[in-house]
Amino acid sequence: MTLTIRDLPSPNQDDRPEGMPIDMLMLHYTGMRSAREAVDRLRDPEAKVSSHYVVDEDGLVLRLVPEARRAYHAGISYWRGHEALNGRSIGIEIVNPGHEWGYCDFPVLQMAVVCDLCLSILSRHMIPARNIVAHSDVAPDRKQDPGERFDWRGLAQNGVGLWPAGIPDLGTTGEIRDAAGLRLVRAALNEIGYRVAPEGALDPALATVLRAFQRHWRPEAVTGQADDGTTARLYGVVRLVGGR
Ligand SMILES: [Zn+2]
Repeated sequence: MTLTIRDLPSPNQDDRPEGMPIDMLMLHYTGMRSAREAVDRLRDPEAKVSSHYVVDEDGLVLRLVPEARRAYHAGISYWRGHEALNGRSIGIEIVNPGHEWGYCDFPVLQMAVVCDLCLSILSRHMIPARNIVAHSDVAPDRKQDPGERFDWRGLAQNGVGLWPAGIPDLGTTGEIRDAAGLRLVRAALNEIGYRVAPEGALDPALATVLRAFQRHWRPEAVTGQADDGTTARLYGVVRLVGGR
């Protein structure tokens, strides 16, 4: 498939910080009623938000900000010790009404185009697979996008991001509640890249971060609980990021 990209510049951009590598790829949904409404907002100087690309439901790709420049899509964010992630990331907004306006499946064609766009970005920048993240991964207490209907597994099968293969959903039984077990869960989430509040502190709450993990790697049940299905995938992802 050949990607057709249309330039539709947004004023909401500036220089990336001097010397900062582009080593993250962040995926979003637009969360608005229509593509038109979303694109208007991403180009509105008052809104001060943007992304590098928008992919609409029919697979049309718009480029709002050149990759070499900083777009404003992450907001307050954290991943693997880094904050203010706009400086080092490329952001793609994928048109979908989102949880607020009638969250629906991402059309097959749209997903295929998202995959191709990601692969072309990966061919231009050294972005480790573990740095291909959801907006909800880097801002779990504020964001849910692109959400549990997004096909992270399919993307990974095509070389975009990480997926722990061969771990079926083990269900919602066996929730870990004891302090020692929860300590291991926190450590595993930290190892992947999430910011989890230290034991005893509330923010961001462990359940909130677990929900973000589930939206990405355990979409079968987004419960915020460290149940069997969640911990199996959690340790599966930890094994994948080890040494990367
Ligand atoms: Zn977002």
